[in-house]
Amino acid sequence: MIEYEPVIGLEMHAELMTESKMFSKAKVVDSVEAVPNTAVSPLCLGMPGTLPVINQKAVEYALRVALALNCEINHHNIFARKNYFYPDLPKGYQISQYEQPLGVNGWLDIELETGTTKRIGIRRVHMEEDTGKLTHQDDGTSLVDYNRAGVPLLEIVTEPEIRSGEEARAYAMKVRQILRYLGVNSGDMEKGVLRVEPNISIRPVGSSEFGTRTELKNLNSFRVLADGTAYEIERQTAVLQSGGQVIQETRGWHEGRRETFSQRTKEEAEDYRYFPEPDLPPLHLDAAWIEEVRASLPELPDAKIARYIAEYELSEYDSRVLAEERAVGEWFDTAVSSGKSAANKVATTPKAIANWMLNELFRLMNEAKVNIDAIPVTPAALVELIGLVEKQTINNNTAKDVLAEMFASGTAPTQIVEAKGLAQISDDAALAAIIEQILNDNPEQLTRYLGGQEKLRGFFVGQVMKATSGKANPKLVNQLLSRALNERKTT
Ligand code: ADP
Ligand code: MG
Repeated sequence: MIEYEPVIGLEMHAELMTESKMFSKAKVVDSVEAVPNTAVSPLCLGMPGTLPVINQKAVEYALRVALALNCEINHHNIFARKNYFYPDLPKGYQISQYEQPLGVNGWLDIELETGTTKRIGIRRVHMEEDTGKLTHQDDGTSLVDYNRAGVPLLEIVTEPEIRSGEEARAYAMKVRQILRYLGVNSGDMEKGVLRVEPNISIRPVGSSEFGTRTELKNLNSFRVLADGTAYEIERQTAVLQSGGQVIQETRGWHEGRRETFSQRTKEEAEDYRYFPEPDLPPLHLDAAWIEEVRASLPELPDAKIARYIAEYELSEYDSRVLAEERAVGEWFDTAVSSGKSAANKVATTPKAIANWMLNELFRLMNEAKVNIDAIPVTPAALVELIGLVEKQTINNNTAKDVLAEMFASGTAPTQIVEAKGLAQISDDAALAAIIEQILNDNPEQLTRYLGGQEKLRGFFVGQVMKATSGKANPKLVNQLLSRALNERKTT
C-alpha cells in the first residue's frame, strides 16, 4: 500500500485591538458583549459617498507582528478589493492586501513534543478588515451585527511546511502567545478574535508535488485544530487508498460526531476579481518608522527563555512557564532586579524567586483564579519575604503562611511577621530548654528511640514545633535535638 505524508499550511486571522476600525472612526468594541450594531459608521455599511482612511495604529500593530514573525517588510503596500457578496459584507467587497502584502518570507520556530525545534516558514502577513457577524436562528431567520465589520484584521499565512495536527497546534499556540506579548490581540478564541484555518492535503512519501487540499473553517480551539487536522489526514488517506479522489473544498468540524463535513467547494483567487483599491493610495512605510517600531518590540518568549536559562541557570521547563505570559515574565524580571538592588542586604537569587513564584504564588493565584496583574503582592514584597527566610527571621513554613496573608491583604511581610509575632525562635538556650522538657515528658518514646527506633526523632521535632507554634528555627532544633539525644545515648 502507498504511504502518504501530510502537507499542511495554516491561515490565521487576528483582530487588532485598536481603538477604531481599519478604515473609519467607528469604535472597535467587544463583539460578544456589546449591543449589536452600536459601533457602526456609514463606511462599515457601504454607504455611497463614503471613503476609507487607513488607521495608522492598525498598521503599526500589523507591523509589530510582521517584524516579530521575522518577515521582510514591503515598504510599498497596496490595498486590494476582494469582491464577493454576503450579508455580513455590505460593501460587496473586503479591502485586503493581495499583491504587495505588508510582510513576506518570515518564519517561526516551534517546539515539538520530541523536544526538538522546527522552523515554519511564513509566506505572508497582510492587513485587511473583518466582516460583520451572522447569527442563524432556529426559526430559519438570521441576524446580522455590523459591530465587527471593518475591525482591523491581520492574516498570517504559513508555507505548507506543517506535517501533523500537533505541529499545527504548536504553531498556532506560539503565534497566539506572540500576539499577546505584542499587545495587539487578546488571543481569546472563544470570542472569535483569533481564528485558525488549516489547509490539508496528503501526498505519497517521496513525491514533491502537492495533493488536492481541503480547508477546515471555524475551528474554535487548539484542541479542535489538532483533532480536526488529524481526522482530515486519516479521511483523505482512506479516500486515496480506496481509489477515490480528494475534492478541493471547505469543510467544517462537527464536535458531537468528532468528524469533518463538507461545507462548500472552494473558490479560487480568480473568483474574487482582486484589483487595487481605487479609494486608497499605495501605503508607503518609512524605513526609519519601521526601525522605530522594531526597536519598540518587547523581549519575545524565545529570547526571554534563553536569557533565563543562560543568565539565571533556570531549567528550560521553569523558564518556559515563567515566560509563558508576558506579564508573568515581567513580574519575575522586576523581582530579580529588586533582589539585586543595594537596599536589600540579602542576595536573593533569581532561582529562589522563580521557585517561590512557580510553587507558592502560582498556587495562590490558581486558587483565587486571578492573573498576576491583579494580585496585591508586589515583586519587591516577595523579595522581602524571601529575604526574611534567608536571614532566618522566619522559617520556610511560616513564610508560606505569610505569603498567603500578603496575597489576601497586600500587607508587607515584615509587618505581618511583627504584628503576629511570627519571628522564628533562634535562641539556643530557650530551644534547648524546650527540648529538655519534651524529652523528659515523653520517657516512653525516648526509651524506644534509644533502643533503636530512630524514626521517633521526627516525633520529637514535631513536639518542639508544636510547643513553639511552628516558629522554632528547624536547623537549630535539629542540632540541639541531636546533641540532647546523643548525651542520653552515652549516659
Ligand atoms: P488561498 O488564499 O486560496 O486560501 P493560498 O495559496 O494562500 O490559498 O494558501 C493558503 C494556505 O494553504 C497556505 O498556508 C498554504 O501554505 C497552504 N497550501 C497551499 N496549497 C496546499 C496544499 N496542496 N496542501 C496543503 N496546504 C496547502
Ligand atoms: Mg484561504
